[in-house]
Amino acid sequence: MMGGLPGFLALDWNGTVVPWFGEPPFAGALEFVRGLQAAGVHVCVVSHAEPSQIEADVNRVGFKADEICGTGNKGGEFDRLQQHWGNGLAIGDTAMDLRAAVRAGMPFLQARLEGQPMMEMAHGCINDWAEAPLILRSMAGIFTSA
Ligand SMILES: [Mg+2]
Repeated sequence: MMGGLPGFLALDWNGTVVPWFGEPPFAGALEFVRGLQAAGVHVCVVSHAEPSQIEADVNRVGFKADEICGTGNKGGEFDRLQQHWGNGLAIGDTAMDLRAAVRAGMPFLQARLEGQPMMEMAHGCINDWAEAPLILRSMAGIFTSA
C-alpha cells in the first residue's frame, strides 16, 4: 500500500455516490473511487440496502467495486474490513454511517453533496467530489502506520 492512503474505503451508496437508486452518480464520485482503486485501495460499497438491490445499482453505473456488501450492520462490516485491510476510511451521508465508523474506530468523511448540515464528529466533509483528493491528502497522517 502506498503511504498515506487507507487500506480500504467503506463507501456508502445512496446519498453518497448516487442521490438514490436509478439516478446518475454525483459528478466526480466514480472518478475519485476509481483513482483510489488504481492506487491499490480496496473499495467496498457498504449499504443498508438489500444485497441484490445494491449490487444491481452499482452494476448499473458501471462501477467495478472490489466488494459489495448489503448489510443491516455496517459496524460489523467495518470491523471485518479492518481485520483484512488495516486502516480504513468510511464515507457516508447519514448519522448511522457516522456512528458505525466511530464505533469501529475509523475516520469518517461526511458526504454533503446536497448541502446537508455538518455532523460534528466527522473528520471532514465532501461537498463536491472534486475536492475529495485534496481532503484525503490532508488526512495522510492518519493512514501512515507507525
Ligand atoms: Mg447513504
